[in-house]
Amino acid sequence: EKTSVTLLGLGAMGTALARAWLSAGHPLTVWNRTPARAAALTAEGARVADSAAEAVAANPLIVVCLLDDASVEEVLAGTDLTGRDLVNLTTGTPAQARARAEWARERGARYLDGGIMAVPPMIGVPEAGGYVFYSGSPELFERHQETLVVPIGTTYVGEDAGFAALHDVALLSAMYGMFAGAAHAFALIRKEDIDPAALAPLLADWLVTMAPAVHQTADQLRSGDYTKGVLSNLAMQVAGTPTFLSTAEQQGVNPELLSPYFELMRRRLAEGSGEEGLTGVIDLLVH
Ligand code: NDP
Repeated sequence: EKTSVTLLGLGAMGTALARAWLSAGHPLTVWNRTPARAAALTAEGARVADSAAEAVAANPLIVVCLLDDASVEEVLAGTDLTGRDLVNLTTGTPAQARARAEWARERGARYLDGGIMAVPPMIGVPEAGGYVFYSGSPELFERHQETLVVPIGTTYVGEDAGFAALHDVALLSAMYGMFAGAAHAFALIRKEDIDPAALAPLLADWLVTMAPAVHQTADQLRSGDYTKGVLSNLAMQVAGTPTFLSTAEQQGVNPELLSPYFELMRRRLAEGSGEEGLTGVIDLLVH
């Protein structure tokens, strides 16, 4: 018998999750602030609750996927969570997740926080490669892992309820850095007779080729030896920065996305770390 699920929140993401559980044969009770979105799922077999409280009373496993932490507070306020397993897939900060875990504990519920590394079309499509970071109650995760993995893969990152959000934000932050670099690259060719569609595959392949450098970074951070295995030392890289800045200037491109990183590299070099690679920059960021 498949585990029954209660799902609160049927936005783009919640609706995708609902469909995945329904098509896998899990009995599903749903509630949404705007009832029309819930009604649309009855034809697919969902049971629609009249209130959040009724939905929470229906099953031991409660999944919420709402806009933000404030909406979670609002929706769960009038519900009885005693003995419930609460899984919160709403994006938030690590601090919000930890506070929500404590809040749930005070109400007699087990708590698992989730950070979704996917967009709605990736839900229910294992080959799309998305997953959800989970952190919080290990008992809850173990008990419901088989149900949680139905819509999308699961990656448990620890008992600290804030760790899922922290991993989520860390990966997305790195993604924005990558997008920033790509934006600068496209800007450099913008006024030239170079097809962006010709640059794109070169760019994508290059980023993929360079990405495994993070393993060396991790190895250096663990050992504390930032010179370990360095092929391109900081002194050489800082000496190369004028080439990047001059090229940007010649192409009429504002260097504001690159400059802050170069500035950190220069500061680290000034501390006498010319034999290191780029790992020392991390220590300048942490205060
Ligand atoms: P949507 O904007 O599509 O849906 C938001 C949901 O929250 C709706 O069900 C809405 O209800 C509900 N809601 C908002 N405010 C309140 C409130 N005050 N009280 C009750 N219900 C409320 O967002 P998504 O479904 O896309 O996202 C849901 C969560 O998933 C977010 O935390 C988002 O960050 C996360 N996520 C989304 C991704 C995406 O690509 N979409 C990717 C990864 C994570 P109503 O229908 O009544 O408006």
